[in-house]
Formats: sequence, C-alpha cells, structure tokens
Amino acid sequence: MTASVTEAAKANSELDPAAGKITLKATAGKGTMRAGQWDPVRSPYGVAKIDRSHTAPQEQKKVVIREVSVPEAGPGQFLVKIASASLCHSDILSIEANNTATLGHEGAGYIEKMHSSVEDKGFKVGDPIGFLYIIGCCFECEGCMIHNIHCVTGKQLLQGFTTDGFFAEYAVVDYQNAMKLPESIDIKTASPIFCAGITAFHAVDNAELEEGDWMAVVGAGGLGQQATQIAKAMSFKVVALDVNDEESNLSNYSLWFQTTVSST
Ligand SMILES: [Zn+2]
Ligand SMILES: [Zn+2]
Repeated sequence: MTASVTEAAKANSELDPAAGKITLKATAGKGTMRAGQWDPVRSPYGVAKIDRSHTAPQEQKKVVIREVSVPEAGPGQFLVKIASASLCHSDILSIEANNTATLGHEGAGYIEKMHSSVEDKGFKVGDPIGFLYIIGCCFECEGCMIHNIHCVTGKQLLQGFTTDGFFAEYAVVDYQNAMKLPESIDIKTASPIFCAGITAFHAVDNAELEEGDWMAVVGAGGLGQQATQIAKAMSFKVVALDVNDEESNLSNYSLWFQTTVSST
C-alpha cells in the first residue's frame, strides 16, 4: 500500500507526500458531519515520527473526531451514509505518513444522494452498497483494468490516504467501484470485504486449485480468516498455519477450518 500511495501521490502534482499533508477535499455539500482524522504532532526537530518506545509524550498524536463539511457527490458519484467502516493495517501506514485526510478505506453504507449523471446506472437512493476506496480514475485505461491505482491519468485518489475516507458519517463513492449488497450480507459487518476480502479472494483464486484440493492458509488473522471462508466456499480443504496459538485455537472458527497447525 505504501508504494501505491506514493505512486499515486507522485502522479498527481497537487499531492506532496513529503509535506505530510496530501489531502484533497471533495466539494463541500450542505451541513456538517463527524469524521475520524489523524492529528499529527511535529517533533521539535521538524520531522514527525511515530515513537514506538512510548517514552515521548503521545497525547497529541491521536485520532480525533472533527466536525467537517458533508461532501457533495460530483459527476459519477453517490453520497453514501456510512453503515460500517473497518480498521485495516494499511490505516496505520496512513497515520505513519501523517496523512490528515479522514481515515478509513473499507466501507459499506446506504446511498443517500445520487449525482444526476448516475441515475441510470442501476442504483437508487437507499440501496445498501459496498465499495472500493479509489475515486477519480478513468475506469477505462489499461491500468484501470488491472487496478485503479495504475490509472494512466494520474488523477486517482485513495480514500483514507490522499483524500477523505470512510471513518465519517458520509462519504462520496464513484459508482463504478460500488456494488449492491445482497440481503444475505449484513451491512454492519460488510466493510472488510472491500479490502481484506478482495485481497484474500485474489490469493485463493490465483492458486488455481481444483474442487477438493487442499489449501494451506499461512496466518489465521483477518485476511487468513477471509481466505479460509472463501476457500471453503470454493470447495477446497483448508489447513490454517499460525504461530499464534490464540489465533490457531479455532474454537471460534471450527466450522471454517478443516484442520490447524501451530508452531508448537
Ligand atoms: Zn485495507
Ligand atoms: Zn484509468
């Protein structure tokens, strides 16, 4: 993720990751909302660093809730009322980069408003949707066909990193990166699917296994649990490997894993 953020930032001359503040704001709509943002503190030496020793004062380096403008859906966008947004390890990278955009890049929510340009795209106000966190790309170039971060226009923005993300009451989303959620998926727990879930799916899918084959999932954490569920749904037999007994003690996951192996 770090490299991707840097590439996107470099590609857009308006962004300067070295400045520690590379936030582009969406057009403000009516009203305000609460949003979770990192409040960095510059050290006396002029370089902000995360102090892992916990010996330096930490009280001002924290996520704060700010009152900010509700964004307005631009062309191709929905305004979404966020129903769930989940924490991902990559959020820590955004914090370490001292990004001050609203955090969060895993989200799900209800369409609150639609720009007139997307009224014929198969969605309606009130639809429960999940979505990816990249906006502003062209969705048509060769790079976009692989991953929107590679869009040749250089206009792509990463929500939660280079522009406001989903730890807020509302967010804007490009319709091309949104999908309606089926009733079988609880919107309140759907958000991890749109980062961790997709990552895990591609890992399982790229293994090109046949039905009934065994698959080893290395690490039974957040992504490993997603990969396990996906692999089971694809009719593979799953072995979970983990050095952490608590994670490989699968009383909670016994329905998911075929068997588990820990380091001890
Ligand atoms: Zn993530
Ligand atoms: Zn593109």
